[in-house]
Amino acid sequence: MTSSRSSFDIVIVGGGLVGMSLAVALAKSPCSVLLLEQNQSAPLHANVLDLRTTGLTRSSEQMFMQAGIWQKIVAAASPIERLDISEQGNFGGARIDANQHGISPIGYMVPNHHLIETLSEQVAQLNNIKILSPASLDSAEANSSGYEVKVNHNGEQLTFTTSLLVGSDGGNSKVRSMLGIGAEHKSYQQSAIITNVRTQKPHKNVAYERFTQHGPLAVLPIQDDYCALIWTQSEDSVDGYLQMDDQQFLQSLQKAFGYRLGKFLEVGKRSAYPLALTKSNALVGAHAVLIGNAAQTVHPVAAQGFNLGLRDVHTLVQMLTNIDFNPAHFESMLNEYQQKRAPDRDHVIKLTDGLTRVFAQQAWPAKMLRSIGVRMISSLPTVQRGVLRRNLGLRYFMDHTKTEDHG
Ligand SMILES: Cc1cc2nc3c(=O)[nH]c(=O)nc-3n(C[C@H](O)[C@H](O)[C@H](O)COP(=O)(O)OP(=O)(O)OC[C@H]3O[C@@H](n4cnc5c(N)ncnc54)[C@H](O)[C@@H]3O)c2cc1C
Repeated sequence: MTSSRSSFDIVIVGGGLVGMSLAVALAKSPCSVLLLEQNQSAPLHANVLDLRTTGLTRSSEQMFMQAGIWQKIVAAASPIERLDISEQGNFGGARIDANQHGISPIGYMVPNHHLIETLSEQVAQLNNIKILSPASLDSAEANSSGYEVKVNHNGEQLTFTTSLLVGSDGGNSKVRSMLGIGAEHKSYQQSAIITNVRTQKPHKNVAYERFTQHGPLAVLPIQDDYCALIWTQSEDSVDGYLQMDDQQFLQSLQKAFGYRLGKFLEVGKRSAYPLALTKSNALVGAHAVLIGNAAQTVHPVAAQGFNLGLRDVHTLVQMLTNIDFNPAHFESMLNEYQQKRAPDRDHVIKLTDGLTRVFAQQAWPAKMLRSIGVRMISSLPTVQRGVLRRNLGLRYFMDHTKTEDHG
């Protein structure tokens, strides 16, 4: 595509995981697409202890299969075959083996840099997509057929027109505010400490979710004997955990997690992400749509944010295909898109927000209910299947006719 072009059918603002996935999913469309990313991408080749990973559901696997890049992604993925759910201070726990339910693996852990590299390589090969980076959106002015978009590219101002403006520009979406769409914002007053650890015993592809008095702690299988750690802490204690030396940190982790994986032997660089729920009041405007974190940013407790964003992408591309990418039908299509995405979005928001609240309460009735809940998961196959289905993410991905089969 020539760089002098100034009109694009679709302008995607934000080349994070969701924006890039949309560009890849539009490969077979007849549309010209401009992808704007404010950061110069610099793939990170990190030591395994410092790799950042993302949990992918089976719905995301399906989507990447359709886009023809799953084989590349899965080459670096670690499957999750079992879930181990427990609560600090409550004896016992629940272990769910996906093999026993005929739906293994439950999902995959994939290094972020591998996802980004695979998506970037794919986008670079597509003739209908142009990437501009570093390029940040300055303004978007509506006209009768879409938008005139002004972009800052290396200090130079460029102008483009488009029939569809997509905001995949994250939780603080500029597109969302330019469209005049408000958002509900709730801080959890917690931060997630992210790092990787090496364990004495092999993880055997088990994902551990442990609820502690401060918040959830996830230990997730990645390559060899390494695990990814997402440890939620209250805002006022997070700095202390970041400043500890490695031995002190490993001891605190050991105390919270126990010895299911033997001793924690090594830890990588630690970083912290403040946790908040941001829910856009609308998903669409005239000739415009919000997807991924720009539409909803959820607590990472159930590893759902990116997977949910990918289902935004899947539905949007399906609906654009149904109207032959004809801008004359955008308005009705976008309204339908908003309605179609509502149940999945509400479900994930309720799930992540609910888990965070239920497990934060320390009063004895809440503790007792949690203990009963964990025991039900442990002993009832139907409850186990419900938990598995929630983790597969297929319910809102398949056609409605197939929904019942896949949960
Ligand atoms: C600790 C943690 C663990 C997580 N683990 C998981 C997990 O295991 N599984 C899962 O599914 N999800 C997980 N998530 C959620 C997941 O990371 C996000 O949902 C996902 O990355 C959102 O991608 P996005 O592309 O929508 O937004 P972002 O990643 O925020 O990307 C937005 C992009 O837009 C660009 N941008 C912003 N403004 C402009 C502008 N004006 N002009 C041009 N570009 C702009 C930014 O530079 C950025 O690249 C986790 C989140 C956290 C915090």
